Amino acid sequence: MLIVMRQDASQKQIDEVIRAVESKECKARPIPGGDRVSIAVLFNKGALDEAWFQDLPGVKQAIAVTRPYKLVSRETKPDGTRIQVGNVTIGNGRMVIIAGPCAVESETRAMVIAESVKKAGGDMFRGGAFKPRTSPYSFQGLGEEGLKILAKVRETFDMPVVTEVMDLACFDMVEDYADIIQIGTRNMQNFSLLRRAGVAKKPIFLKRGMSATIDEWLMAAEYIMAEGNPEVILCERGVRTFVRHSRNTLDLSAVPVVQRESHLPIMVDPSHAAGFRDQVMPLARAAAAANAHGIMIEVHNEPEKATSDGAQSLYPKQFEILCRQIRAIENILKDNSE
Ligand code: PEP
Ligand code: MN
Repeated sequence: MLIVMRQDASQKQIDEVIRAVESKECKARPIPGGDRVSIAVLFNKGALDEAWFQDLPGVKQAIAVTRPYKLVSRETKPDGTRIQVGNVTIGNGRMVIIAGPCAVESETRAMVIAESVKKAGGDMFRGGAFKPRTSPYSFQGLGEEGLKILAKVRETFDMPVVTEVMDLACFDMVEDYADIIQIGTRNMQNFSLLRRAGVAKKPIFLKRGMSATIDEWLMAAEYIMAEGNPEVILCERGVRTFVRHSRNTLDLSAVPVVQRESHLPIMVDPSHAAGFRDQVMPLARAAAAANAHGIMIEVHNEPEKATSDGAQSLYPKQFEILCRQIRAIENILKDNSE
């Protein structure tokens, strides 16, 4: 925090501000300027409240300069976090491709899609067993039966599986089956769920809330880390804007901003951002070019029959082409790495 004194502040007022800072167990360092003194507040252990200093005599403004998040911050840990999931490493420079249907619909369907994901070069399989649907009348997922199918996919194709946890009631069950536990956009600020995720033994895939700022998103990750789970993967999945041509607007600037602010890996889900199949491949390529740590793509062999999100699911053939394109972009980035 920086406390800017008024031009006419007396030495006595400056000394009083210094004492107030020291009473919060921080160090106060006065910085004399051309026409006024500013006081830098250093070594604070947690977030400081501007209001503590704002109204002291002689103070013009108290400005928060450190970030509210600590554990997720790159200031705390300059090296990028790597997360090992089975034989896949997230955050080691190779883009991780996660793909599969929106929902696990049946064993046969999941197996057919998983085979095409594996063949195309996908690294992990995704599929919801518990679906957060806008309408209570829409397909809600197969529940534990869906998780068992995911376990079968993992065994058969040697691919880690990612699936969403919707609430505390199903957390233990999802944790038993999943290799990575997804927290969806609608639950990004479900703080009791985040705390439970913080004591989970599996990595957490934390999607950005559809109206969340990057600070709010990072603070959600901070909740998980504060409980002791250091393995959090962030996923940008589009935010709500005024546009009608896509379901959400993919905020690709989140990738460099998160990479500057945090050591956690960041992936991109162009499927839920777009909502329409024809936008998914261009957005996925753009995410790769932005140097995301990975992408999550919805794939379905018969999207017209899908129980959810068929309109945004790629056909297996399209996914195969996309995988090749992603690897090509990755190679270009390697050649020109800064
Ligand atoms: C999903 O990945 O299936 C999903 C529901 O995503 P989101 O939470 O981003 O809408
Ligand atoms: Mn979906």
